[in-house]
Amino acid sequence: MPPPPQTYPAVSIEIKPSIILPGEIGVFATRRFAKDAVIVPVAHFADVRLLEWAVFETLDAVTKSKLMGYCPGTPEGLLAPADLNYISVAWQMNHSCQPNVGFNATDDFVAMRAIKRGEELCWDYAFAESNPKFRMKCCCGAVDCRGVITGRDWRRLMSEPAKRGYFSSDLRKLIQALASGEGEAKRRPASADFSETELFHDSPPPPRNPARTGP
Ligand SMILES: [Zn+2]
Repeated sequence: MPPPPQTYPAVSIEIKPSIILPGEIGVFATRRFAKDAVIVPVAHFADVRLLEWAVFETLDAVTKSKLMGYCPGTPEGLLAPADLNYISVAWQMNHSCQPNVGFNATDDFVAMRAIKRGEELCWDYAFAESNPKFRMKCCCGAVDCRGVITGRDWRRLMSEPAKRGYFSSDLRKLIQALASGEGEAKRRPASADFSETELFHDSPPPPRNPARTGP
């Protein structure tokens, strides 16, 4: 019996110097994507697990800083890959307050609108960030840039029709629980014992053009 035909995944994203954050790197589309098309399947993040704040506190300063720069947070900990030394292309995707990428209900990264080949891909960190202590200075250059991104921004995104359909599954569950009358009182408070200043991501450089309308 002949072996099954060999297959290989098509390349759909690549790393290049960021347009949104000059001096940083970003992720770009190598082909067109229709609205709601899957760009990065959730299987790509199969090694992601909750790194509890108590364990995070035992790590060295460099590792802590890098984890904070890459990983969405929750009141309980960070959603971190198994080993940050070996993260893949999709992890380099930057934040924008005017994103073109969000999550579908099963946590695939999907296109929020039609995306052209060569466009920088970016998502709104508030789609997945729920650590109430999280704060990050934003220089994305979008006309509606929030200036500071926080772990409570998901609340305001709920009132934005273009964004509210693109939350991570965890935040969708939280929002549903709130809507059905289960309050945040049922959530455990953040156990991380450090100041908001320490929770800032690496400070991005100043915006190249504050009047930019986004990617
Ligand atoms: Zn912004």
